[in-house]
Amino acid sequence: MSKDQVTIVGAGIVGICCALSLIERGIPVRLIDRDKPGQGTSSGNAGVISPWSIIPMALPGIWKKVPGMLLSSDRPLSVKPNFWPKMIPWGMKFLSKSKESEVRNSANAMHLLCGPSVALYKKHLEGTGYESLIVDSFYVHAYKDKNKANIHALDYQIRSEKGADLELITGHEIQDVEPSLSTDYKAAVLIKGQARALTPGMITKVLTEKARSLGVEIISLDVTNINRSEEGWVIQGSDNSIFSKKVIVSAGVWSKKLLEPLGIKLPLVAERGYHMEFANPGLQINNSIMDVESKLVASSMQDGMRLAGAAEFANPDEMPDQTRKELLTNQAKVMFPNLAADHASFWMGCRPSFPDSLPVIGPIDGQKELYAAFGHSHFGLMMAPKTGEILAEYISDDPDKTDISSFSHKRFGHMSSKHSSEII
Ligand SMILES: Cc1cc2nc3c(=O)[nH]c(=O)nc-3n(C[C@H](O)[C@H](O)[C@H](O)COP(=O)(O)OP(=O)(O)OC[C@H]3O[C@@H](n4cnc5c(N)ncnc54)[C@H](O)[C@@H]3O)c2cc1C
Repeated sequence: MSKDQVTIVGAGIVGICCALSLIERGIPVRLIDRDKPGQGTSSGNAGVISPWSIIPMALPGIWKKVPGMLLSSDRPLSVKPNFWPKMIPWGMKFLSKSKESEVRNSANAMHLLCGPSVALYKKHLEGTGYESLIVDSFYVHAYKDKNKANIHALDYQIRSEKGADLELITGHEIQDVEPSLSTDYKAAVLIKGQARALTPGMITKVLTEKARSLGVEIISLDVTNINRSEEGWVIQGSDNSIFSKKVIVSAGVWSKKLLEPLGIKLPLVAERGYHMEFANPGLQINNSIMDVESKLVASSMQDGMRLAGAAEFANPDEMPDQTRKELLTNQAKVMFPNLAADHASFWMGCRPSFPDSLPVIGPIDGQKELYAAFGHSHFGLMMAPKTGEILAEYISDDPDKTDISSFSHKRFGHMSSKHSSEII
């Protein structure tokens, strides 16, 4: 085993992209997961890949909308009763990030990660025979209330300033773009120049196989602990332990649990989301479509039409809320009145979310050769390839390293000691 081998703990889309970027620079890599690589949260998402998804979740005035979202029968936002003690401090931090200056700072940082997303996916898929898993697309932000489609609102304004091509359409123009969408939608903002994934779970499979073929060792292990020895890191699993000089933790929301014993406490929570996928929907959608009010995103994928969304704050390993099955099916029928909803599958995944919508990326202070790549919340599919590039730059000590100060874990304050209980 090479002394300089890098071991990546967690093979979601972020870990997989880190593995590809490292092996392409000639750095030997091991990729560990307790399950099949890329088949968790990274498989069930809405498939949006966009240079323009650069707006954090906390926007000015969000505090006025939260009660309505919690009480709405559409349940775009919910908190499990036993999660409220963790939710309150996280929510306070979230609300403190909603000032325009904070939004603009986060948008700049998000643009750095999302900007090259489409090009990097095309590069990763090139030569695999699966290039068609990414298709060029618009994002159709659909509104039932025409007056709410304000193309000059802060979020669209920031996108425009960064170079996005936006268009406001109304009435029958919407049906020209998306004939299956209900005529209840009276206006839509088209965000052009992006892409969507036709089955994110297939992309993770294809890229895992590519990584394997380039020499990445894929290991099945349920990691229980990561401990520092004199020489490097000991990655302990349920029935085995592995030594590595350098470690990247990219275990999604479960990264928190792996790092806490090292005294690293971060406000990372599970913002769970759901999807229903209709196998024979009887209709085709041309783009990614978001119902802006319910925050649901629909997209035609290889195995059917998927409707994904909801933000449910809960412990990550708690059972999915089965009542969302019927709710999502009804919401899908409202969006697409001709939908054939008979053969459908139900799924839940955990967005790893920080209050400022930014991930933690890069070396962890005070922990020699331990690196972070987690917390990509709503944007992990699109942010993963650039995250991988950044980790490869830092690990190979590239002289032209990207400035990653916005993604430092230190933005949440002083690294807690092993006994600190301040941060959730
Ligand atoms: C409903 C929904 C819709 C979404 N839509 C989009 C979208 O359209 N576009 C977009 O960009 N993003 C979207 N996202 C977000 C995106 O899916 C996530 O940000 C992304 O998948 C996170 O990837 P990850 O690799 O960090 O984590 P994960 O995919 O969760 O991977 C972490 C991996 O670590 C492994 N692991 C954890 N603990 C251990 C351990 N102890 N030992 C070994 N292995 C371990 C897990 O098994 C898992 O495979 C959506 C999310 C949801 C829920």
